[in-house]
Amino acid sequence: MNFRLNSNNQLSRKLIVPSSRLQHGQLEITLLRKSIRSVRLSISSEGNVKLTVPYGFDEAAAMDFLKSKLPWIEKHLEQIHRQKELEPDDFSTVSFLGQVYPTIISYQTIAPRIYFDASKTMHLVLKPGTPISGIQKVLDAWFQVELKKRIDPLVKEWEPIMGVEVLSVRYRRMKTRWGTCNVLTHQILLNTELARKSFPCIEYILVHEMAHLLERGHGPAFKAVMDNYLPHWRLLRKELNGK
Ligand SMILES: [Zn+2]
Repeated sequence: MNFRLNSNNQLSRKLIVPSSRLQHGQLEITLLRKSIRSVRLSISSEGNVKLTVPYGFDEAAAMDFLKSKLPWIEKHLEQIHRQKELEPDDFSTVSFLGQVYPTIISYQTIAPRIYFDASKTMHLVLKPGTPISGIQKVLDAWFQVELKKRIDPLVKEWEPIMGVEVLSVRYRRMKTRWGTCNVLTHQILLNTELARKSFPCIEYILVHEMAHLLERGHGPAFKAVMDNYLPHWRLLRKELNGK
């Protein structure tokens, strides 16, 4: 993101001045001064906010600029945060059905499996040499089995209530959506990551996708369908999106 400035405070220095830090509430910003004409605001994929300003731009001016861009910064940080939730790089804990469980990872030359012990620790038994991406795959397969156990009876329960028919429910790990519904084939696709969420949230997504068999879009007619079958769906949507 670039913002042009009407500033002629240009000094012909080429060296980058060591960065300083700015603090605004919880937010920490790296401030860099360079021989540039416009202010540059960037956010790294790790969520580090960096503000690069021309020489001669003082800290108060930088802070004012930053404050004017807070909504933009917050929006992007939230996106990064959400993305990270979908891409846990460390399996020291795993969320399942809305609860966080500590894990113990062990390696055995048997088929991978996941189970809970009496102290509610999740054990991930993997084949020796399983890479991080492999752990996610084992978890995905397990999430799918656990979701199916809960989704199949829910479909049977909701079909007569809503007067619709679901041909099949499939599962796949997805980054941007919780589910989709093909209204022509009556096939529903659910994100395996849903298994991390509470049961009411899982049910909400299923009912949402089934509601598309009655209303395609997300307009007032669709909302009326949701209000009719799951009056508290807005609360569940909030919980699901962590707001
Ligand atoms: Zn939808």
